[in-house]
Amino acid sequence: KRPVPSDIDISRSCVPKCIDRLAREIGLLSNEVELYGKTKAKVHLEAIDRLRIQPDGKYVVVTGITPTPLGEGKSTTTIGLVQALGAHLNNNVFACVRQPSQGPTFGIKGGAAGGGYSQVIPMEEFNLHLTGDIHAITAANNLVAAAIDARIFHEATQSDKALFNRLVPLSGGHRTFSPVQINRLKKLGIEKSDPSTLTEEEITRFARLDIDPESITWQRVLDTNDRFLRKITIGQSPTEKGYTRTAQFDITVASEIMAVLALTSSLEDMKHRLAKMVVATSRNGEPVTTEDLGVCGALTVLMRDAIKPNLMQTLEGNPVFVHAGPFANIAHGNSSILADKIALKLVGPEGFVVTEAGFGADIGMEKFFNIKCRYSGLRPHVVVLVATVRALKMHGGGPSVSGITYLIIFQNLELVEKGFCNLRKQVENTKHFGVPVVVAVNAFKTDTEAELQLICKLAKEAGAFDAVQCTHWADGGAGAVELGKAVQKAAEAPSNFRFLYDTELPVVDKIRIIAQKIYGADEIELLPEAQHKVHLYTKQGFGNLPICMAKTHLSLSHDAEKKGAPTGFVLPVRDIRASVGAGFLYPLVGTVSLLKKSHFKVCSPGEILEKNAGGSEKN
Ligand code: ADP
Repeated sequence: KRPVPSDIDISRSCVPKCIDRLAREIGLLSNEVELYGKTKAKVHLEAIDRLRIQPDGKYVVVTGITPTPLGEGKSTTTIGLVQALGAHLNNNVFACVRQPSQGPTFGIKGGAAGGGYSQVIPMEEFNLHLTGDIHAITAANNLVAAAIDARIFHEATQSDKALFNRLVPLSGGHRTFSPVQINRLKKLGIEKSDPSTLTEEEITRFARLDIDPESITWQRVLDTNDRFLRKITIGQSPTEKGYTRTAQFDITVASEIMAVLALTSSLEDMKHRLAKMVVATSRNGEPVTTEDLGVCGALTVLMRDAIKPNLMQTLEGNPVFVHAGPFANIAHGNSSILADKIALKLVGPEGFVVTEAGFGADIGMEKFFNIKCRYSGLRPHVVVLVATVRALKMHGGGPSVSGITYLIIFQNLELVEKGFCNLRKQVENTKHFGVPVVVAVNAFKTDTEAELQLICKLAKEAGAFDAVQCTHWADGGAGAVELGKAVQKAAEAPSNFRFLYDTELPVVDKIRIIAQKIYGADEIELLPEAQHKVHLYTKQGFGNLPICMAKTHLSLSHDAEKKGAPTGFVLPVRDIRASVGAGFLYPLVGTVSLLKKSHFKVCSPGEILEKNAGGSEKN
C-alpha cells in the first residue's frame, strides 16, 4: 500500500468544488449564502426560520477516551464518518467542527482540520483567519476591556455631573437616555426616563459604577501565543495620570464572547447574553456587566457577521460547518449550537449531523450534554467514542509521549487490556446520559489486528452498542463504512436521554455529582477561595447555572499523571469563576501541591490554559 502523504499535501492535491455549488446541492437558497471567495461562505440564520417545519436529522456527537498529548483522532473521525455516511452509504450528511485558534496552530499541535484522507479543505483557509470570526471576537472583547479602564479613569478624575454629561450627551439641545441606560436606571430602582428630573443622589448612582479594580475578571485578548503579554502594566502614558494597573492578555478563544457565540440560539439571544457578561464587582459587592458599561450594543454589531456559521467541505465534498471554538477547560469546548441547528434542518429527518466535542468524554461530552444540549434543546441519537491502541497502552502503564514509538511498533495485548479500564469508564460515562455509544477504534498503521480486535471485543462486553475498527485516516470515507453502518443502526436504537444533574441543585452538589459519577472521585474538597465564590455567586443569583469544570484532559482525575481509571481520590476545587453571559460557572480544579507554587496562587484563566491545554487540543 502507498504511504499516506502529509496532511497539507493531501489537502492541496484536491480541488474543492465551488462553495456556491455545494450550498445549492445542500438546499440553501442564494439569498441565504454569503460567499467569502470560492471555498468558504457564511450561512444566514434565516435558513432556520425557512426550514422551521422540517424535522431534524439524526444528531451524532464524536468524543474520545482520555487522550495522549498527541490527540486520538476525534476530528479525523468526525470527518471520516461524515464522508462514509455521505457518498459511501448514501445519506445527507453534515459535519460541525470548531474553528481552531492560531495559537495552537503555530504551536505543538498544528492544524485541526482532521488528518490523512479525512480532512476539511482547504486546510490553510480552515486554520487561519477563516472569515474573521476570531478577529471579531478580539475586537469585541478588547472594546469591553478598554471601556472598563476608561470608566475607572473617568470616575476617578471627574465630578458626578461631568460623568453624567459624558454618558448622556446633549443632542439637539437636550439629553435623552438610551434604552440600555433606562434598563440600568430600572436596575437601580430609578423609574425615570427624563434625564433632567434626576436628583443629585440619583445622578451619582447612575454615573458611578464604582468598579473595584482588584475584582476585574475581564482580560484583553489576542489570537497569538505571545507569552510576554501574559502579565503587563497598563496606563503608563502621562495622559493616564498615574492610573496604572497590572493586566494580562489571554488567547482570544478563551474570551467569554467565544463561549457566548457557541451557545447562542439567535441574534436576539446573543445580544442578551453579551449584555449579561459580568466583568467585575463594584465596591459594594454588586456584579458589573457589559450592559452597565454601555457597550453591549457595540458588541452585538461587532459580532453580527460572526454569528453566521461558515460553510466549507470535506475532501470528499461533504458540507462542513466550522463555527466557534471555545476552550474545553474554562469553557465548554464545543462548536456552535446554531451550526448544529441549521445542519440538522438541512440534512432532513433521514440525514446525519456529526458534531465533535473537545477533549475526552469526561470533559467535552459531559459539557456537550449538560451545557450545550441544555441550552439548545437538541437531543443526540448516538455517541461515537474514539479510542486508539496507543492511548490504551499508555493507560495500561506503558510510557507515554516518548514511549509511543516503542509501544506502537510491538504488539502488547497485555498493556491494551490493562489500559482498557479508561475506555470502560468512558463507555460507562456515556451511559449516564442514556444515549447508545459506538466505539470507533482509530487504527494506526503499526497497530496489530489482534490489538484492534481485542479493543472491539472488550468494548462490546463493557456495554457499547457496537465497536468497530476504522481506517478513514488512510482510506478516507471508505475506511469508516463499518463505523457508518454501526452509527446508522445505533441511531434507530431507543435513546433515553437525561441530564446528569438538575441545575437547581446547590453549586457544590452539582460539582460533586460530576466528580463522583464522571471522574470516579470519592469526594470533592473546596478550598477557601472556592467556598467564598459559592457564597458570592449564590447570593448574586448565579447559583443555578450549569457547571463547566476546568480540569486537565490528560487524566480522568485532576492529576495529568494518573492514567487509566483512577479511583479513591479527592478532587480539589481551587476557585470558581462565572461566565454569566455564556451561562455557566467554571470551577478551577487542581492539586493542592500545585497550589503551593506561587504562579498558581494567582492563577488566571490564561495560566490555566497554559497548564491544561498541553498542546493536544484545538484551542
Ligand atoms: P483530536 O481531534 O482527537 O485531537 P485529531 O483528529 O486532530 O485528534 O488527530 C490528531 C493527529 O493525529 C492529527 O495530526 C491526525 O492527522 C493524526 N491521526 C489521526 N488519526 C490517525 C491515524 N489513524 N493514523 C495516523 N495519524 C492519525
